[in-house]
Amino acid sequence: MTDTKYNHTQPSKVDPKQIRALLEANNSARIRTWLNICSRCGLCADSCFVYQGNNRDPKLSPAYKFKHTLGEMYRRKGNVDAAFLSRCFEVLWLQCTMCKRCSMHCPFGIDVASMIALARSICYSQGITAEKLAEFTENCRKSGNHMGMPPEELIDTCEWMVEEVEDDYRGVTIPIDKKGAKFMYTINPREPVFYPQDIANAAIIFTAARENWTMPSFGWDCTNLPMFAGDRAVAGQQVRNVYEKARQLGAEKILITECGHAYRSLQFEGPYLAGYPDGQPPVEVVHYVQLLHDYLVEGRIRIDPAKKITAPVTYQDPCNVSRNGGLWEQARTVISYLAKDFRDMAPNRDRNHCCGGGGGIMPMGPDFRPPRMKSGSVKAEQIRATGAKIVIAPCHNCFDQINDLGEAHELDVKVLSFKEILLETMIVPEYMQIKKDA
Ligand code: SF4
Ligand code: SF4
Repeated sequence: MTDTKYNHTQPSKVDPKQIRALLEANNSARIRTWLNICSRCGLCADSCFVYQGNNRDPKLSPAYKFKHTLGEMYRRKGNVDAAFLSRCFEVLWLQCTMCKRCSMHCPFGIDVASMIALARSICYSQGITAEKLAEFTENCRKSGNHMGMPPEELIDTCEWMVEEVEDDYRGVTIPIDKKGAKFMYTINPREPVFYPQDIANAAIIFTAARENWTMPSFGWDCTNLPMFAGDRAVAGQQVRNVYEKARQLGAEKILITECGHAYRSLQFEGPYLAGYPDGQPPVEVVHYVQLLHDYLVEGRIRIDPAKKITAPVTYQDPCNVSRNGGLWEQARTVISYLAKDFRDMAPNRDRNHCCGGGGGIMPMGPDFRPPRMKSGSVKAEQIRATGAKIVIAPCHNCFDQINDLGEAHELDVKVLSFKEILLETMIVPEYMQIKKDA
């Protein structure tokens, strides 16, 4: 490994004893087996978009990445220095988005993403992580959301959004902290800060479906950037905030906005991070793709056939919604209601490539854009080959990354969320219509 040119937080003093203790605490049978069983067969290499997008550099193969970071930490029994950890930073945060695609191609099913996550947490324990992720983690620790938004600001934003739509739709409300709702709706802090219309769109859709829902004033950040920073304690606190708020409100289910990492965090990794030994969330977790699927199939939302999209459309399977979340067919059913000319990428569904914006790299800031665009070239070419003019991306990271890829790789595509398309295509129920000329 060469020295990294990328900025990260600096360790005060590396503590090999602490590293050794962490390695021993995590020295499970799985990790031992994975580290020992890898035969360097190389079958995983071509499955990795980072490897493919960077001229098939052997140092970017999944096996090389985990062996020269976590593997080396174990081999040296924790006796590593700041220079070694600094070199690990580039591998752990820039060269692996923890998308888990390589695990499907390894004959032993070696879970590279889990080992990269463990190596990140060891770097974090020594003060090394991406600067922006450290800042967001601190915001989470202090406020419960990575933008550091106080509850009253979220409530103000919700009230403002209700006012924004009241001239167009009747009866739209955003009930805050309502008890006994079917869904407690959780969002990405990017929404109230940069895209408040996304909250308004969700409220319109809930109203059209006559849903019993609520927005919590706390425990609403479902994204969990501390999980990607490597701070497992704050990552656990983030998921506990959501689970405990849902229990306190007596919500039947936790609903997640169009965000992939949030689904991975709350549905799959959260229970372990929060200390639930059975690995199950204490309240059922539902992703927005599943909700829309059910609304359309059950006829609670109806689409106007005349408004169906005619331009060619493709779909970005977010790693944490499709491969790791299992919702690839539900998404395609939703698209069949919304678009006339759907063109799948190749490969797709659980085999789809990561967009290159996952694993925490997207919010790490502009310094990290060049490597994002390079690794993302695999995704850019997948999209180009479909000839689509619209890419549906039910994940904020994919959404932003594909927008950036469109610019960098001259793709001539528009990226849309499901909510945006639904608002354009659904039949507004009679009870929500405002007769403007009356
Ligand atoms: S988890 Fe994804 S990004 Fe990381 S090595 Fe495997 S395929 Fe590459
Ligand atoms: S496919 Fe599996 S065994 Fe082969 S090099 Fe990759 S991680 Fe190692």
